[in-house]
Amino acid sequence: MIVTHCHPDHLGLADWICWDGDTSRWNVRLWISLGEYLNGRVMAAGDGSNAGGERVAQHFAMHGLTDEESLDALRNRKSYYPTLVPSIPPEYRRNRDGDAIRIGGRDWKVIAGFGHSPEHSALYSAKDRLLISGDMVLPRISINVSVFAMEPEGNPLALYLESLGRYETMPENTLALPSHGKPFKGVTTCGITIARGWRKCARRALRRHLAPPISCRSCSSASSISIR
Ligand SMILES: [Zn+2]
Repeated sequence: MIVTHCHPDHLGLADWICWDGDTSRWNVRLWISLGEYLNGRVMAAGDGSNAGGERVAQHFAMHGLTDEESLDALRNRKSYYPTLVPSIPPEYRRNRDGDAIRIGGRDWKVIAGFGHSPEHSALYSAKDRLLISGDMVLPRISINVSVFAMEPEGNPLALYLESLGRYETMPENTLALPSHGKPFKGVTTCGITIARGWRKCARRALRRHLAPPISCRSCSSASSISIR
């Protein structure tokens, strides 16, 4: 079973499907990148990494979240990931960028992507112009690009924009099969549009909000963001 990345809506049932000790299931190996596998294991260990706990509350506070109720909600959100991903297969096979994988008579190449998750794997069939894009390129919604407490100096947006460049050489009539929404053509245009959108958004935020300097919390019209 190939999993593109470690987010709960992708990895959550992997153990259940692969094996979980039940012989009636597939009894197959999980194929995933090293970055996604290890990140999933760390978060599933339930120490609050990335999704909640004291360090996450401090991370948000450092970026301007000040109300105690929201900070407490973050502190107490320690089992967010393990609730959604209760177990992960103890063994896996590693996907690396550029790997060739043959599935049902069709050849696919692994395309690593960064910024949305640690080491996302998309699959591309050049011969048939098919792209299993996972969460890297979606047709209708913009993807989550976040700085997490575990890597506070990270620049995931730069990584994501750089990763989008990898789709620019694909033929325009490539059929993308995304993880959310319907299949679509025009992955190159879509990638360029997404990249332009992010850059425009960043420029606008800089112009409007950073003179004088204010916190991240204040400049993201985030007063409506709920801390669940
Ligand atoms: Zn995702």
